[in-house]
Amino acid sequence: MRARRIDHIGIAVNDLDEAIPFYRDVLGLELAGIEEVESQKVRVAMFVIGESHIELLEPTSPESPIAKALDKRGPGIHHIAYAVDDAEKAVGSMLSSGVRMIDETPRDGAGGSRIAFVHPSSSGKVLTELCEHSSQDRERD
Ligand code: ZN
Repeated sequence: MRARRIDHIGIAVNDLDEAIPFYRDVLGLELAGIEEVESQKVRVAMFVIGESHIELLEPTSPESPIAKALDKRGPGIHHIAYAVDDAEKAVGSMLSSGVRMIDETPRDGAGGSRIAFVHPSSSGKVLTELCEHSSQDRERD
């Protein structure tokens, strides 16, 4: 597999409405949209920065992985997401190279993407996400 680019950087926040003005008004980034991602129990605000995004994540439930991260470490950078052509294939190739995955099968992410998280024990404690966008041209064998 080959990671194509940084798809986005995920940042955990307690409150989207409090966090948004810094990115929108101070940094001047375009707010692409806000959506709720049920599978992760989060509300997500996506900002465009070049070919990448900044993803602000606010928990919608105490069971959200983001709520747990906020409890443990407070707000801050949560994960780095790499764009891949095919999430299923990327996960398969990582598993076969002995990489431990949180998600051994890709699941739904924001904006209709397919995502899978690498286990931090296999990525030097940096929470790492693989992200496939359906609009992206896929690499065919
Ligand atoms: Zn993400």
